Amino acid sequence: MLKEYGQFVYQEEANPRIGEDEVLIDVRACGICGSDVHGMDGSTGRRRPPIIMGHEASGVIAEVGGKVTGWSPGDRVTFDSTVYCGSCWFCQRGAINLCDNRRVLGVSCEDYRQHGAFAEYVAVPQRILYRLPEALSFERAAMVEAVSIAVHAVERAPISLGDTAVVVGAGMIGLLVVQALRLAGCGIIIAVDLEAERLKLAERLGADVSLKADDCDVLKEVKHHTRGRGADLAMEVVGTSPTVNTALACVRKGGAVTLIGNLKPSIELPLQSVVTRQLTLCGSCASSGEYSACLDLMARGTINVAALISATPPLADGAAWFKRLYGREPGLLKVVLIP
Ligand SMILES: [Zn+2]
Ligand SMILES: [Zn+2]
Repeated sequence: MLKEYGQFVYQEEANPRIGEDEVLIDVRACGICGSDVHGMDGSTGRRRPPIIMGHEASGVIAEVGGKVTGWSPGDRVTFDSTVYCGSCWFCQRGAINLCDNRRVLGVSCEDYRQHGAFAEYVAVPQRILYRLPEALSFERAAMVEAVSIAVHAVERAPISLGDTAVVVGAGMIGLLVVQALRLAGCGIIIAVDLEAERLKLAERLGADVSLKADDCDVLKEVKHHTRGRGADLAMEVVGTSPTVNTALACVRKGGAVTLIGNLKPSIELPLQSVVTRQLTLCGSCASSGEYSACLDLMARGTINVAALISATPPLADGAAWFKRLYGREPGLLKVVLIP
């Protein structure tokens, strides 16, 4: 539990009570999300203490509410990090990521406090549950939110077979975006980052070219690999002025940039270049309905998540691992805590 900003405690809590349409999940694995790490110091306003964080989890159903159908104790499951309402205008159109009444597990903000899955048990409504394929371990299943974000973003991008793509930012999500672009039929995929180790991993996971942004002229290199035109697409997975501008500069006239990162709430935009080169800009938020497909791709190994899990320590050591992630320890990607 985040007791004060920057301070975690590991303590006994009563098990959450389940409502009629909810199940109690015996949590077996829960990943630490970047949003948890950014939230722990109060800078985002979305982890107001006291809060049990954790929204990237998997486990076994321990108990089902009176109105739950189709699920039983013992079922291996994961769940959407977003508790959507299912009845607003957006939900009814299938855009559950845009739900008017959306709550995220393990988040406390001005409007609500919803305890999450860095615990032995968590309660979630039946409508957000997904069954785990047998071949998928709990640790790997806890990566499904990250995978779904990458897959959703790639589905938002106007991709044609053989398109060249630039991925700006080869962190957790960027490395999954590289894999999803490959699956979507892209031709040359170019990964851009500042960390050599991540770029090596990007190449292992499907990038053809990796560019260390502080070591080379990224634009020149991209042009070199795209017959002087620029890439058909760019995926921006950081969210700062320099990185978004790199993504915009790398695409050809008429190209498209999908924006996933939002480290900064506002950025500088080269308006004239976007207008006169007729670029398409497209935001992508969370996911809407991609979980089943992602679980299948993960179970088959078509999307490799094992390579992105840095450590699976016990939940009791969670505070120390949060600290290491907060300190931006190089080489650390996903840390999955085991209750
Ligand atoms: Zn997350
Ligand atoms: Zn809704």
